[in-house]
Amino acid sequence: MRVLFGQSIVVFADLSGAAHVLETANPAFFAAIGGQDRARTGAPLADLVPELAGQGFIALLDQVYRTGEPHTGRDARIVLGAGAQAREAFFDFTYEPRRDADGTVTGIRVIGVETTQVKQAQHLMAEHRTLLEQIARQAPLAEILDGMARCIESLTGDGVLVSVLLADPDGAHLRHGAAPSLPDFYNQAIDGIATGEGVGSCGTAAHRRQPVIVTDIATDPFWDDFRDLADRAQLAACWSIPILARDGSLLGTFAMYHRSPRVPHDFDLALARVFAGTAALAIERHHTEQARLDAEARAEAAVRELAEAVRAEQQLRTEAEQRATAAAELAAQMRTAAAAQAGTPHPERCQLGGKAGCPEPAELKVADSWGSSAWGCTRHVEEAILNVHSVFIASEELGGLDAYRNR
Ligand SMILES: [Zn+2]
Repeated sequence: MRVLFGQSIVVFADLSGAAHVLETANPAFFAAIGGQDRARTGAPLADLVPELAGQGFIALLDQVYRTGEPHTGRDARIVLGAGAQAREAFFDFTYEPRRDADGTVTGIRVIGVETTQVKQAQHLMAEHRTLLEQIARQAPLAEILDGMARCIESLTGDGVLVSVLLADPDGAHLRHGAAPSLPDFYNQAIDGIATGEGVGSCGTAAHRRQPVIVTDIATDPFWDDFRDLADRAQLAACWSIPILARDGSLLGTFAMYHRSPRVPHDFDLALARVFAGTAALAIERHHTEQARLDAEARAEAAVRELAEAVRAEQQLRTEAEQRATAAAELAAQMRTAAAAQAGTPHPERCQLGGKAGCPEPAELKVADSWGSSAWGCTRHVEEAILNVHSVFIASEELGGLDAYRNR
């Protein structure tokens, strides 16, 4: 974080005369205005840094020179350089009139403090806090990582493309996590790559558990197998940092790609480390939540299975009880009928023994709806009643339909 906030660099210059000729300046001043050919004194500031005039800074110098009143600006935006070299910067600055012994204004002393990094860091902290809030309220992981990638891409503003890959539980492969600015074909090709030495920047960083900085994909042996792919996606540099859990296990990788070969600055690496840490938090939180949901689902499934087993057992018991009751009722009916039919003339032996015949004495008469009837032993009668549809104990004393017809 300290690297991200950076040091406040003080720029200083003494100008003389109405033309604001640069008399002396510190190295930070020359570094700020940029360009080798600008690092010289003895020339009017407007000649050295022509872009200042259009932004009102020369007019302000004129005013201070004319009035002798100092001017203070806060967080003043200034664009230094031109074309592709142009960079936006912010300064707190004062224009202080310099006077001779008579009090006449002879020049201006410029003192400025660059606040660009502080502004950038403030912006970054705000974005970072938003991410932490998202993590705290358990927004979906994809949403958090996507937001994070976009945030870094907009913060750095130098064409960086961010990619987050997620490690499989065994740490052997990396899956697509978030890469909103990389082309789909690239993300699809990378999805599922193995971790290992020489597998691009990310596979190697995941394998080593150490940052892997590839400043030029075109020549780096780590990219031998992926160079064509990177070419098609117009990627020239890739710095990858492993995302590690608190226990040191691999959660994924955080990578910053560039479209031209590039060596990272301290700021870039600090930014990557901060966001790799944030990503670790989000992914660990996600894993914990996922584990909780899985455990809950398993517990629910166990409860459901138990309820099903209890219900099935109850059903079996109920059915067994019903069968026992039915059997007892049938036995009672059969006993009553047998007693009633005892006096009726009947065959001596059971007629329900099939071809083999049955040696048991006939005790009960049964009939069916079609008018067949037979006498049998208790066992065969019970079997017939249970197995043959429409068989019933013929109790002739009740009279059947005849009795009904003649009522
Ligand atoms: Zn029998």
